[in-house]
Amino acid sequence: MARFRCPDCRAEGPFEYDGTMACPSCGSARVQFALTIEELLDVHPNAFDDIDREIAEFETLTRH
Ligand SMILES: [Zn+2]
Repeated sequence: MARFRCPDCRAEGPFEYDGTMACPSCGSARVQFALTIEELLDVHPNAFDDIDREIAEFETLTRH
């Protein structure tokens, strides 16, 4: 279960993450989320594509 904490309305607690980046309570975009990797990949299946690419570039740079 994902959790959220909002600095604007002070709400926090568990919620169902659906990909929106807004406070479930007041709609603030400053809300902070804590997700498991599985939840993140459910909504953003390509979330780690950029990271994989950066790792590949790093390996290329360090291979001599
Ligand atoms: Zn809020």
